[in-house]
Amino acid sequence: MAKEDQGLAIGIDLGTTYSCVAVLQEHLNRVEIIHNDQGDNTTPSCVAFTDHERMIGNTAKNQAATNPQNTVFDAKRLIGRKYSDDIVQKDKMLWPFKVIAGADDKPIIVVQYKGEEKQLCAEEVSSMILGKMRGIAEAFLEKPVKNAVVTVPAYFNDSQRKATIDAGAIAGLNVVRIISEPTAAAIAYGLDRRNSCVEKRNIFVFDLGGGTFDVSLLTIKDKNYHVKATAGNSHLGGEDIDNKMVKYFVKEFKRKNKVDISDNPRALRRLRTACERAKRTLSFAITSNVEVDALFQGIDFYSSMTRARFEEINLELFEECMETVERCLTDAKMEKSSVHDVVLVGGSSRIPKVQQLLQDFFIGQDLCKSINPDEAVAYGAAVQATLLSEGIKNVPDLVILDVTPLSLGISANVGKLMSVVIPKNTTIPVKRTHVYKTLHDNQSAVDICVYEGERTRACDNNLLGFFKLRGFPRAPRGHPVDVTFVIDENGILSVSAEEKTTGNKNKITITNDKDRLFTKEIERMIQEAEIYKDEDKKFLRKGRAKNGLDDCIYKIRKALKKDDINSLLCSKEKKDICSAINRATNLLDGTNEKDDTVVFEDCLSELQSMLERLKAVDQNA
Ligand code: AMP
Repeated sequence: MAKEDQGLAIGIDLGTTYSCVAVLQEHLNRVEIIHNDQGDNTTPSCVAFTDHERMIGNTAKNQAATNPQNTVFDAKRLIGRKYSDDIVQKDKMLWPFKVIAGADDKPIIVVQYKGEEKQLCAEEVSSMILGKMRGIAEAFLEKPVKNAVVTVPAYFNDSQRKATIDAGAIAGLNVVRIISEPTAAAIAYGLDRRNSCVEKRNIFVFDLGGGTFDVSLLTIKDKNYHVKATAGNSHLGGEDIDNKMVKYFVKEFKRKNKVDISDNPRALRRLRTACERAKRTLSFAITSNVEVDALFQGIDFYSSMTRARFEEINLELFEECMETVERCLTDAKMEKSSVHDVVLVGGSSRIPKVQQLLQDFFIGQDLCKSINPDEAVAYGAAVQATLLSEGIKNVPDLVILDVTPLSLGISANVGKLMSVVIPKNTTIPVKRTHVYKTLHDNQSAVDICVYEGERTRACDNNLLGFFKLRGFPRAPRGHPVDVTFVIDENGILSVSAEEKTTGNKNKITITNDKDRLFTKEIERMIQEAEIYKDEDKKFLRKGRAKNGLDDCIYKIRKALKKDDINSLLCSKEKKDICSAINRATNLLDGTNEKDDTVVFEDCLSELQSMLERLKAVDQNA
């Protein structure tokens, strides 16, 4: 988390459903959105495990319907949360993969990998996606990349931000900064509109993605980006819309066929894919078909949805978005008429009804669609990454001031009122001291609980951690203790308390809250990540050998069909070639994936030398 790792830094938008990576190419003075090996600018945030290999991105997503229990998506929805969290419990019902409660109520994903049970925490799955994005960048830049700015929803709390940094560490990345997604998008917007932002402009960023919803109100003036307020819901997005559609069609299937598919992960996965496709179509067409052959017990499912019905079943979600928009403006104490531009970010902001509600809310104002909603966040992160890199000169000189999304405070006893130390929407980094006064005469110690949230009663908020401060001198009630909160540029909090009397000082800092992975665990996961990488490499090597073998067999067979070659070979040579081809074919046809890569490679080099011999014979013929 520092500048000490010099050199290139990339920006990664680690999305719930898709991720995107970008880099500011200094010599070209432009941001490059980096495409993956399939030529796509975004990569599914999906990881899959089979008996033979681990897959990340498109390959993982493409096999999801045939391997639903071992295809993990939505890890971002679990990150920094507890297993008993209502949101996790609800999501769990819809996921085809298994989630169990681990130590300290941490959610653990269970998959089968190479015939064995594998337990993973959300940070590990996210680290795999981050590693993939890093690999995409390294392939494009043809050099190693160590530093990255990773974006998180503005509404991510302290534990979710810390967990994202841990995911970066497991992926071997130095996360130089965590920034909010809408802020990153605003950077992209501001740079796009460089000239029109010379005067102060109030920009409202509406970011509705796959799993999260965020809004931010910023003022941009020249090179200064100041976030005024932020609001959102870290669990609202395109996937919730897909879920509504899935539920709707599960009912329809039951009504038509008298069978319930809600317990069949494979059928649900296939239906979800069809629903997502239909949803995208409904953004430009007024009706869309939903067709899945042999969805369940050989029964085909053919149906359709109109845009009107789609809007009806999702209206509640869309209205929830608008309430958040209103809240953000109220928090910023700004009239909607003072907003100059409304910027759309996130794939789900393409939904016409969402755009219409937003336009109505802002009294007919045009919405800004000039920046690509899928790429704007990574774009801004790449700019921020370059700003934080040392030795790079040709970068826009921006000043970015973000805010803390939730109020932070203390309560001296669990269940009592929360004393807010840092109110929400305070510009970060920030340091504030609160003077706690003892409640009893001669009190010798105090339990200090640290909370985040907006509720008056501390116990209704999220408990971040607690510590005890002891060794007070004898004193009447009301004896002061300084409690200091520090929030760094990443939005991460540390708290210390100090009792200052005649030379008697005590200081405690919360560094590792209860939900966070311990350094030892992170180290173990880093080692495991290296093992995964080695296994992936081995799998690739084997795949290449198989491919080479297939190609060689084809070429040898073709060469043997030529009469002149055939006539020049002695019978022993022909016999050797035939038996080598048989061996190779058996190897390729065999289902024994446990055959070592070297077995394939040895067979390949034998066939390759035979092919060379045939080529030589052909030339002499
Ligand atoms: P993001 O997290 O920004 O990559 O957004 C991904 C979400 O946007 C997914 O839920 C997609 O299904 C959704 N999405 C992408 N394109 C469209 C579209 N044209 N209409 C509706 N939703 C879309």
